[in-house]
Amino acid sequence: MPQTAISGPEADSPPLAGAAIAVRDLVKVYGRGARAKQALKGVSLEVPRGSFFGLLGPNGAGKSTLINILAGLVRKTSGRAAIWGHDIDSDTRRARAAIGVVPQELNLDPFFTPREALEFQAGLYGVPKAERRTDEILAAVGLSDKAEAYARTLSGGMRRRLLVAKALVHAPPVLVLDEPTAGVDIELRQQLWAYVRQLNAAGTTVVLTTHYLEEAEALCDRIAIINHGSVVASDETPALLARLDRKDVILTLGADLDAPPAVLADLKAELLGPRRLRLHYRPSVTPFATVLARIQSAGLEIADLSTQEADLEDLFLELTRRQG
Ligand code: ADP
Ligand code: MG
Repeated sequence: MPQTAISGPEADSPPLAGAAIAVRDLVKVYGRGARAKQALKGVSLEVPRGSFFGLLGPNGAGKSTLINILAGLVRKTSGRAAIWGHDIDSDTRRARAAIGVVPQELNLDPFFTPREALEFQAGLYGVPKAERRTDEILAAVGLSDKAEAYARTLSGGMRRRLLVAKALVHAPPVLVLDEPTAGVDIELRQQLWAYVRQLNAAGTTVVLTTHYLEEAEALCDRIAIINHGSVVASDETPALLARLDRKDVILTLGADLDAPPAVLADLKAELLGPRRLRLHYRPSVTPFATVLARIQSAGLEIADLSTQEADLEDLFLELTRRQG
């Protein structure tokens, strides 16, 4: 598989100037020779401006590698990437200025206070003193009363919020959070999400990497699933879920069964308890009315009935299983 030059009509034009993030055939190989590890195997992605985008995948999938390439922390092997229309190779400075990354690791200088950390970061990005919003950002992440405390005295959740604050000092249009809720308790998690949602509502494009499926499902309007260095799906969240053509019917029966009815074997009838029966069907093949008729003709006494759509976890397992 060719992994270097880009061919085709996009070869000479900047990739997808209108997207918040555009990635084309991105390849990353760590190490060399027998120990070489291909962490990204030709990833192409597009994050629309203004979206709340989830990059979902298990540990080792390549999420941080992708994020770190965009942030300028890891060198890509080949492929292209642009942030807010700025190519990371030919327009590095503006690409860098357009993105704020909250890294997965809590890498804070223990002897900086939150205020110093933000001022230092603003200096790195060349934000003039008059334009700095240090107090505003500290307040937004709930660290005003810790502004003068050494980072080493902050709790894990506070450090995480300080990292978010650092990523915001240069007011980037794109905010990337790499597994921001790892090690953060539920209350702080809610607080963090409330703030990030607010930023998104005010126009910031947010990219979140996570292996928490519910988190991506609840927050993101679009989701890309990455596994073993390849994107296996990328779509709007509801469309992604709809692609999983599978529904469950759960029946509560009026009488005990000791085995699932043989006549419903093709609906993968499965007993969850003596009076609970689960059926699977594919809505594109079998209309619900047909499933109902089948249930009735099986002579079952129905006390209650509910349907369940597959969730992201099912989709994820299905996509990754299909790939593996
Ligand atoms: P994720 O963030 O999805 O958990 P990573 O991007 O951290 O995945 O890692 C992707 C793959 O690359 C993993 O197999 C990991 O072990 C490997 N990897 C990551 N960083 C390095 C590195 N600095 N050197 C060698 N291999 C690495
Ligand atoms: Mg990671």
